[in-house]
Amino acid sequence: MAPPKYLTGDPVAIKDFIDRFDVFLFDCDGVLWSGDHLFDGVVETLELLRAKGKKTIFVTNNSSKSRPQYLEKFTKLGIPSNTDEIFGSSYSSAIYISKILKLEPPKNKVFVIGEAGIEKELASEGVPFIGGTDPALRRDITPEDWQGIADGSLLDPDVGIVLTGLDFHINYLKLAHAYQYLRRGAIFLATNTDATFPANHSFFPGAGSISSIPLANMTGQKPLSLGKPSQAMMDAIEGKFQLDRERTCMVGDRLDTDIKFGIEGRLGGTLAVQTGVNKKDDWEAEGAAAVPAFYVDQLSDLRVGAQ
Ligand code: PLP
Ligand code: CA
Repeated sequence: MAPPKYLTGDPVAIKDFIDRFDVFLFDCDGVLWSGDHLFDGVVETLELLRAKGKKTIFVTNNSSKSRPQYLEKFTKLGIPSNTDEIFGSSYSSAIYISKILKLEPPKNKVFVIGEAGIEKELASEGVPFIGGTDPALRRDITPEDWQGIADGSLLDPDVGIVLTGLDFHINYLKLAHAYQYLRRGAIFLATNTDATFPANHSFFPGAGSISSIPLANMTGQKPLSLGKPSQAMMDAIEGKFQLDRERTCMVGDRLDTDIKFGIEGRLGGTLAVQTGVNKKDDWEAEGAAAVPAFYVDQLSDLRVGAQ
């Protein structure tokens, strides 16, 4: 395999790189911004690519926000966008459930472990759900819960899917419900299985670590993830945008999610930026999770060849 090509400061190589693609899939955190800090030159770079007729799609594993909530973040940071080009793992889960699983009543309800972003996306696709931000589940487990969960009298018989994501109020009661639904045959889905995510110049427990991995340990089953690097997410993106994969490039900062996602999806290219989680040393290391085809120091380095 050819080593990754370094594009920073090489206008000819950048122009050639940009000409190869019609569509750019951008990871968000670590590529466009870090937390609430927009990286320099991002808006100009996106505008130059769009002016050249390139389609820009934003693909994030962050399940805590719906597309309209994500758009608010774009707007606040000054990045022109619209909900149609935003693709989050909560949206990807909602369309997988509504368009692919297409469960019929009476077993079509989703038990959610997660925040309002997931609920909003399920609601926008008309998918019935329980759990999520319901305050009734934000408390300690009681003797009545032990009994009612065990004998099923406290369970909703219509639940056919358990969907796990990032939940800032995860607790024993929610996990006990989810586990019992899975034991009774519910389909096991995860918005994403990230071990950690970056925030405030550090790392915090990710959706996988707090919800899907504990449940996988209990049940011995693996969830189907609807976030990067799962190809179920790529299929959902392809279904929505009719991608020509050969003419599509995935841009990301993380090897085990973004770059792997692009490679396994057989996209025409992958571009790593070094403003987020992984750097050159990581893909040069033995046993790297994935190796990008191209890399730059930062996204705005593409401006030189995009003009
Ligand atoms: N999950 C959460 C909760 C996050 O806050 C983030 C980044 O902010 C991620 C996942 C990773 O997001 P991305 O795929 O945009 O890097
Ligand atoms: Ca990222």
